[in-house]
Amino acid sequence: MPSDAATTPALSLVIPVYNEEESLPALFEALDKALPTLPQPVEAVLVDDGSRDRSFALLRDAAASRPWLRVVRFRRNFGQTAAIAAGIDLSRGPIIVALDADLQNDPKDIPRLLQKLDEGYEVVSGWRRDRQDKAVTRRLPSVVANWLIGWVTGVRIHDYGCTLKAYRRWVLEPYGLYGEMHRFIPIYASWAGARVTEMEVTHHPRRAGVSKYGLGRVFKVLLDLLTVTFLGGYSTKPIYFFGRPAFALCTVGMLSGAIFVAQFIKEHVMHVPGEWLQPVTLLLLAVFLFSLGVQFLLMGLLGEILIRTYHESQGKKTYLVGERVNFERPAE
Ligand code: UDP
Ligand code: MG
Repeated sequence: MPSDAATTPALSLVIPVYNEEESLPALFEALDKALPTLPQPVEAVLVDDGSRDRSFALLRDAAASRPWLRVVRFRRNFGQTAAIAAGIDLSRGPIIVALDADLQNDPKDIPRLLQKLDEGYEVVSGWRRDRQDKAVTRRLPSVVANWLIGWVTGVRIHDYGCTLKAYRRWVLEPYGLYGEMHRFIPIYASWAGARVTEMEVTHHPRRAGVSKYGLGRVFKVLLDLLTVTFLGGYSTKPIYFFGRPAFALCTVGMLSGAIFVAQFIKEHVMHVPGEWLQPVTLLLLAVFLFSLGVQFLLMGLLGEILIRTYHESQGKKTYLVGERVNFERPAE
């Protein structure tokens, strides 16, 4: 029995759609076929990310005869991550599977992903081992980016960018998704204590329509990586992040200052000629490094203020509770 508006589904599929009129008919067909093989009731939340083609009309028509198909339309294009975030927010199942609308991901893989969740994992990430995209502009940057993300974050999976992933809902709830960040969900989740694994999935070449991305996304992903690392490691204590370089800079600055003073005394008080280092350089270094160190400290303090606003204005805690025993109310 597929889910309708009244019953709570066991599984929610979340699918971002942007100018996919050529792919949608095949997607509906694939979903019709895949649905009976999935845990029931099941719903699919398709988020039209401000398409300018006939995508929304096709979605609305398809939904008329399919009560399990729920459609959300953005007012304008907000990006794939925002579309996935909306799909997560508006879906209701305790398990969420995200996939692309262009059928590059194969709905046939979903039962295998779910099996992994049953084994106790909380995030199962698809790995497009045999990825069917352009080599130079897409696969090569992706190999480098995946390696870098794994190295920086310590969460090692092969293919962060694959949309096809299965999640237990609780791992998604504490975090807002920004920019290109849907790819970092396994990292957030792992930092939140979730068990994360990956699984090889089928990847098809895009059969219809065009890819929405090119090389430009690499920069966004790199900048997002910086944010994620900062937020993940230091979001509750920014002063620790800025404090270390601040101390290093101030120490070297003070050292230059000390040499400058020692040299001044040696030459002008004790009248011993000859200088160790150029006084101008020393003075410049002293002033520059010390002020930079102070700036870093101040930045850390500002960060501390911001992070308090961030946590308190949203009622966010600095910790996540998994379970509670002998408490009156169940864990929220
Ligand atoms: N997409 C979206 N908003 C965008 C760009 C893409 O919702 O601004 C959707 C798109 O319709 C597709 C998925 O995100 O379902 C992946 O996009 P695409 O296939 O272009 O990316 P690629 O597979 O080439 O990485
Ligand atoms: Mg695609």
